[in-house]
Amino acid sequence: MSPTACLTVLMFALAMAVAGSASASPPSATRDSRGAVPPEAGGAMSRSVVQAPAQGAQVGGPAFGFAYTPPASPGLKAIYKRVRDADLWRQVPELQAIDGMFALPRPLRFVTAECGEFGAFYHPEDTEVVLCYETLRTLYERGQAHQKALGLGDDHPLHYVRANVRFIVLHETGHALVDLLDLPVTGRQEDAVDQLATILMLRFAGLDETPDEVVGNLRLAANWMLSDSTGAYDLAAYADEHALGEQRYFNLQCLIYGTDPEGFAGMVKANQLTAARAAGCAREMRSASRAWVRLLVPYLAPGYEAYGVEAARYLQRSG
Ligand SMILES: [Zn+2]
Repeated sequence: MSPTACLTVLMFALAMAVAGSASASPPSATRDSRGAVPPEAGGAMSRSVVQAPAQGAQVGGPAFGFAYTPPASPGLKAIYKRVRDADLWRQVPELQAIDGMFALPRPLRFVTAECGEFGAFYHPEDTEVVLCYETLRTLYERGQAHQKALGLGDDHPLHYVRANVRFIVLHETGHALVDLLDLPVTGRQEDAVDQLATILMLRFAGLDETPDEVVGNLRLAANWMLSDSTGAYDLAAYADEHALGEQRYFNLQCLIYGTDPEGFAGMVKANQLTAARAAGCAREMRSASRAWVRLLVPYLAPGYEAYGVEAARYLQRSG
């Protein structure tokens, strides 16, 4: 196949994958209604086992700080007011779940701000995760386009923003944990923290969220990774510290599939994942989960010992 024809096929497959990533709801018959995924199915951790320490107890590491910085640009003020009034940081269940969980050497702050560019960042010098208002605006626009393309309901753009904010913020939190806890990472850190974001969303989603909703949010995060997909890249893209958007997309699809290969068999049929990659996804998911659990458990703060017990059981079971 010529490079052009090959590219056309890839782009078509990607377009189909994007279309499918919101409309193809994963089968629920084989899934555990109590947790995100049956722990024995794909090696991911269940999210229903352990409760956080009792409130008021003298436990936990340094608490996260949350702030909303007013933007200078008039065009971003409405977004600022909206996230401040909604207290966006406290609406990220995974962040609330891990707040205080780790014995960090100093407190980590989460800030929304005008950045002058699209993005989200971890700034080690300030121990700060910054989510840009520009990102929220772009995510909303992308959510609107996704809604239009698939004929989804009016609430979809906001749903799209929420799902992606969770993934993006947890990705940056991963960078922060690597820095603050001096965690070893071999290979690309960007890939490693994508894996952590996925694992945290599977393990610490809100308990009022169904397994299908949890996976649905991850699939919207996968969709976002294709937002700059052109199929044609320059040297800067190949040399970038991030994998190409298409590769991040398939990595995430693989982790999702790996939680329950039987339940997600439709992803392969719908060309959302190749059969060749899918064959190893349960192992990839298990390997990533085990690695992150082993890296983080030594840093559990006092009062969170129950998570250590859960982790030990998990490592034994999935080994
Ligand atoms: Zn990153």
